[in-house]
Amino acid sequence: MEEENLAEKLFKLNSSINEWLTDTRVLVDQIKARQDPRRQFNLWRNSSEGKNWKRRQHSKQDRKCALCADYVHISRAHIDHIKPIAKYPDLALALDNLQLVHPQCNLTKGTTTAPASKFQESDRTLEHRDGNERRN
Ligand SMILES: [Zn+2]
Repeated sequence: MEEENLAEKLFKLNSSINEWLTDTRVLVDQIKARQDPRRQFNLWRNSSEGKNWKRRQHSKQDRKCALCADYVHISRAHIDHIKPIAKYPDLALALDNLQLVHPQCNLTKGTTTAPASKFQESDRTLEHRDGNERRN
């Protein structure tokens, strides 16, 4: 039947348009993320890569806040940019620019550049310590 054919064609066209719209939205999100370092960072933070980094970093920092050196629970720890995104957008995802801190300490710090963290050690030292702490 003619009409059935037309309905089927319209249905297929509609499906194609929906697929295309979904693809376009994904592309737009990716482009926006590239243009916005804060957004790019948030995407990374919520990815499994970001979550794994947080676990490793928490261990590297002896479960302590990089600003006040008191204990911080991993679920409470905020990822702080040592050199703030606002002034150094290129360092938004530079891992050696990131540290874990208390939310309150992060607020107190604001957008100033943190003094050199005591956790900024050589990679070799960090790997060594990481290995020792995996048992805990
Ligand atoms: Zn703190």
